[in-house]
Amino acid sequence: MRTGSNLPAVGEYNQTLVLDLIRRSPEGLSRVELSARTGLSAQTLSNVTRRLADEGLIVEAGKVISGPGKPRTLLKLDPRSRFAVGVHLDPVVDTIVVVDMAGEVIVHDEIPRAPHATPAELVDAVGAAVDTIVERAGISRDLVLGVGVAAPGPFDARGGRLLDPPLLPQWHNVNVREDLGAVTGLPVLVEKDVTAAMVGEMWFDRSDRLTDAMFLYYGAGVGLGVAIAGAPVRGRTGNAGGIAHVVVDPDGPRCECGSRGCLGVSIEPRVLLAEAGVDPGDAGDTRPHLDRLVADARRGDPRAMAVLERAGERIARALVVTNNLLDVDEVVLGGPVWERLAEVLGDTVAARVASDPVSTSTRAIVVRRSLVGVDVAAVGAACLLLDGAFAARPARMMIAL
Ligand SMILES: [Zn+2]
Repeated sequence: MRTGSNLPAVGEYNQTLVLDLIRRSPEGLSRVELSARTGLSAQTLSNVTRRLADEGLIVEAGKVISGPGKPRTLLKLDPRSRFAVGVHLDPVVDTIVVVDMAGEVIVHDEIPRAPHATPAELVDAVGAAVDTIVERAGISRDLVLGVGVAAPGPFDARGGRLLDPPLLPQWHNVNVREDLGAVTGLPVLVEKDVTAAMVGEMWFDRSDRLTDAMFLYYGAGVGLGVAIAGAPVRGRTGNAGGIAHVVVDPDGPRCECGSRGCLGVSIEPRVLLAEAGVDPGDAGDTRPHLDRLVADARRGDPRAMAVLERAGERIARALVVTNNLLDVDEVVLGGPVWERLAEVLGDTVAARVASDPVSTSTRAIVVRRSLVGVDVAAVGAACLLLDGAFAARPARMMIAL
C-alpha cells in the first residue's frame, strides 16, 4: 500500500495518490475507504478531494449504505475531464489516438504517408493530424494535456530529438519535441516505442500488479519494454530495450551484425515470409501476406505451421534469456505484427517459455497478450501525459519536498 502524508508540503503527492486510487476503482471509493487506504486524516482527505473536484477530475457518484451511520458518498473519476493525444511513428503505419483520463481510446486514426516529405512537412502533417483528431473527438483543445510521441530509437530523450532511427530515414535528426510543440502549441513528450508500450500496458492494469514486467514489442522491428518496481526502465539516454541482436537460433538467418539467428532478423516479417516461400514484392506493407500465412497455418498447411512454430520458439528463447537477466513476474506480448500472429503463436510462446531448459526462473512466468491491443505504442505515448497528471510515485514526493 502506498500511504499519503499529512504534511501540507506534499499536497501534490497526496492529490495524485488519491486520484490514482480513484482511477483504479471504477465502481467508486468513499472518503472513508480512501482514508483507510492512504492513512490520510479525514481533514487532509477532504481538502484533497475538494481540490480534485474543483479541477473537475472527480465527481460524486451516488451514495452507499454500509453498516450504521451516514451513507457514504462515492467518488469517481470523470474520465472526460482531460485528454491526451498519442502518436506512434512507425515504418509501416503512423497511428494517432485520443485517450481520456481512463486511458480509453476515443478516436483512432492513421496519419497518411508522405514518402518524399521534408522534415518540416512531416512535422506539419503530424500537427495537422493532431488538429483533425481533436476536432473529430469533439473535445475542447483546452482539455488536451499534450501530445506523446512514440518512435523507434535511437533518440536524444532529454532533447526530444530523433537521431537516426534506421527504419525511419525521413525523421533523422528531427527535434520532434520542439518542432511539434511549436506547430501544435501543446506540450510534447517523446518516448521509445517499446517503453511507451510498457507504460500503456501498466496504465491499463488497474490492479497495480504489473510492477516487474517485460513487454516484447513486435512490429516492423522488435524491442523490449521493461518495468521494475512499477516504473518503466528508460536507461540513461532513453534508449533501453534493444534486444534485436540476442541470438535465438544458431541455425537461423544471417544478421547484418555478422552473427546468425539474432532475434530481430529471425522474426522479421519478410524473413518469415521468405521461409514460407512467399515473396511479398517491393511493397513496404507485409500485413496482407502475414494474414495469409496465419490463415494457411490455421488450415493446417505444414510449411506455414512450421514457420510460425519456429518463430514462436525464437521469441520464447529471447524472453527466457532476458528473463534470466531481469527475473520479472510477467511477460506481455504486443505490437502490430504480434497482434496479427498472436492467435497461432501465443500458445507456442507460452509453452516454450515454461519448458525452456535454459530458464533459471524458480517460478512460473505469466505470458500474456497485451490488453491494449494494436495501438499500444500510441496509447502508451498518450498515457505519458496522463502519467504526469496522475501517477503517485515516491519519486514525485521527493520532488515535492
Ligand atoms: Zn545481429
